[in-house]
Amino acid sequence: MIELTVLGCSGSYGAPAGGNCSGYLVRAGNATFWMDCGNGTLAALQRHADVADIDAVIITHAHPDHCVDIYGLHVLNRYGLERLGLPVFAPEGVEKTLTHLVGDWGGAFDWREVGDGDTAAVKGVDLAFSRTDHPPPTVAVEVAHDGRRMIYTADTGPEWSVDAFAPRADLVLSEATYRHDDIRVPIHLSARQAGEQARAAHARRLVITHLWPTLDPAASVAESAEAFGADVTLAAPDLKLTI
Ligand SMILES: [Zn+2]
Ligand SMILES: [Zn+2]
Repeated sequence: MIELTVLGCSGSYGAPAGGNCSGYLVRAGNATFWMDCGNGTLAALQRHADVADIDAVIITHAHPDHCVDIYGLHVLNRYGLERLGLPVFAPEGVEKTLTHLVGDWGGAFDWREVGDGDTAAVKGVDLAFSRTDHPPPTVAVEVAHDGRRMIYTADTGPEWSVDAFAPRADLVLSEATYRHDDIRVPIHLSARQAGEQARAAHARRLVITHLWPTLDPAASVAESAEAFGADVTLAAPDLKLTI
């Protein structure tokens, strides 16, 4: 069983209501992951989990809306829980970027750089990474346990697709920043593209996230569902899904 809890899902900057940026709590088997640490998500994490139970952190890329709250975890682990060496899986550039901000981590984390095609295992849960189409080195993440698979696209433009992983994932959590008739900088997907990609990869369930905060989410869901050919779930703060 894999359980996904949304800690924040606002695209690129915080929305006025419930607007944490990207962050997810993932429980699979006996393992607990904090996947992306966008602004606001450490507070939300503490409402859904005991921070001492986190087995590893996964950061998809160095954009602040996906990583800045790890600063708070560093303080809590180092001075509160006195827990050092927590594994952090992140692509090239994340540790360096955050070190400019934090300076001395004091051994709080065990940084493990991951890139395209890399795999890892934590407490019997398999992780796999794929480099997406997004300016700073960015990895999509597959979490697999006991025959269940969840894929998180992270941020990506249309030149990468979820079909980089095996088809028929039980759940695809896809960014869907834009509406298709108003694609700004093409480093993100539209809701339609998210639906098309998930359909091509035969995803069993599609959850869209990282919507630009001023968009009408119902319209994005409708656009995505039409392309996917089935119902689509909208990520929302505190939403919990089990596969
Ligand atoms: Zn983002
Ligand atoms: Zn980004």
